[in-house]
Amino acid sequence: MIIINNKKDCCGCWACFNACPKQCIEMKEDNEGFRYPEIDKDKCIDCGLCEKVCPVICADKEDNPHKQAGFLLQHKDDRIRQESTSGGAYTALASWIINQGGVAFGAGFRKDTFIVEHQAVSSINSLSIFRNSKYVQSNLWNIYKQVKSCLNEGKWVIFSGTPCQIEGLRHFLRLREYEKLILVDLVCHGIPSPRVFAKYIEAQQSLIGGKFTNVLFRDKYYGYHYSSFSIYNKDPKKDYHKGIDTNEYLRAFFDNLSDRPSCYDCKFKKRYRKSDITIWDCFPIEQFTKDFDGKGTTRVLVHTEKGKNLINSIGNDVRLIEINTNKLTKGVREMFHSVPYNPKREQFFVDLNNMEAKDFFNKWFPITFRVKMNAFIRLSCHKLGIYTLAKRLFLKFYTRKDERG
Ligand SMILES: Cc1cc2nc3c(=O)[nH]c(=O)nc-3n(C[C@H](O)[C@H](O)[C@H](O)COP(=O)(O)OP(=O)(O)OC[C@H]3O[C@@H](n4cnc5c(N)ncnc54)[C@H](O)[C@@H]3O)c2cc1C
Ligand code: SF4
Ligand code: SF4
Ligand code: SF4
Repeated sequence: MIIINNKKDCCGCWACFNACPKQCIEMKEDNEGFRYPEIDKDKCIDCGLCEKVCPVICADKEDNPHKQAGFLLQHKDDRIRQESTSGGAYTALASWIINQGGVAFGAGFRKDTFIVEHQAVSSINSLSIFRNSKYVQSNLWNIYKQVKSCLNEGKWVIFSGTPCQIEGLRHFLRLREYEKLILVDLVCHGIPSPRVFAKYIEAQQSLIGGKFTNVLFRDKYYGYHYSSFSIYNKDPKKDYHKGIDTNEYLRAFFDNLSDRPSCYDCKFKKRYRKSDITIWDCFPIEQFTKDFDGKGTTRVLVHTEKGKNLINSIGNDVRLIEINTNKLTKGVREMFHSVPYNPKREQFFVDLNNMEAKDFFNKWFPITFRVKMNAFIRLSCHKLGIYTLAKRLFLKFYTRKDERG
């Protein structure tokens, strides 16, 4: 049976929970707000299945090269692209599956809450719940079992998630190949704690008031290149939009303070994956083509014939440009390297549990003169319509080869 001695050894994929024939695994929240399996030893029959499906225990040691194809993708529907994180790839892929009578799985807020969960949808309108990346670890509950029963009914299924969730599902399915299953993983920076997010919502609720109707972690309110954290309110005058420079939640994320321990030593960072398709951002679009605008493009890396066929089938809904795969993946740090451990992380979580929500975020992310200036410069550039140019020049002259922000 699975016993977690080191928290780095559990990415929280829920495969063991789904596989256990005795339902004796509970995914229990720890003091950082991440869930880990806890086994009822009285019910466990020591069958070992939980270990056999664990993608960390069974992780591939090698990055085995195989044939790939690379694309830049933009959804042709401007509204869908505006609502999506980058180019709207997932909506296009999932729409095809749904048009075949299939089911799409992804991460969205549970209805009327800000709790992120994997869910199943079978109508094109409902795909909107998956649009926009949620920088919070999702609960999966029995979702892998749902995937299996859809496949057993002969339906097409598409499933999107972090690379560790995709590997969790593959191992839950005991690596069996299904002709009608499409696995889409993301290039994944890391995954923050649901408790940090809940505390952040609590802090914002007391500051802003009103009724929050939606939260977007990567809103294109100021455009794709200066994406903002947005909180939409029933009273639109109370809507909140702040960029990566000032928003406390994004600052915690990009300072690598709030991630799950497994993300600092991720076993799933590689180019050659067992998913069908990998998707991620394309900020420096001008390095690839002059034919696409800067309103959001998804980079798409295709690993299988099945994935390639799906890309060929969605051509009416999207603009596609084929790109050499070496060029597409070059310099994509988060594809290959885990985020560095932040030595202040331990104190961050101690404070999270001991401080009032507002005080906690004020202490960790004070709005200093420097922060204000940074935001002022970015916003001014945005208003002058030179944000992308300024960012490009700044990155060229002053920073490491980081495409974020
Ligand atoms: C936690 C996280 C970290 C990421 N880190 C990077 C990065 O470092 N570099 C980079 O280039 N891109 C990263 N991405 C991917 C990027 O944000 C976009 O998801 C990608 O560009 C696809 O955008 P899209 O417009 O095609 O899809 P969208 O329409 O925006 O769809 C988003 C997709 O992500 C899935 N998803 C959303 N939230 C979660 C979640 N919490 N857990 C699992 N799946 C989720 C949805 O199911 C959906 O399929 C990350 C995404 C997430 C969720
Ligand atoms: S060993 Fe078998 S019964 Fe025990 S927890 Fe693991 S899967 Fe469940
Ligand atoms: S199967 Fe997933 S949730 Fe279970 S121990 Fe392994 S990594 Fe953790
Ligand atoms: S960084 Fe790795 S371990 Fe963390 S959520 Fe992403 S894929 Fe999973």
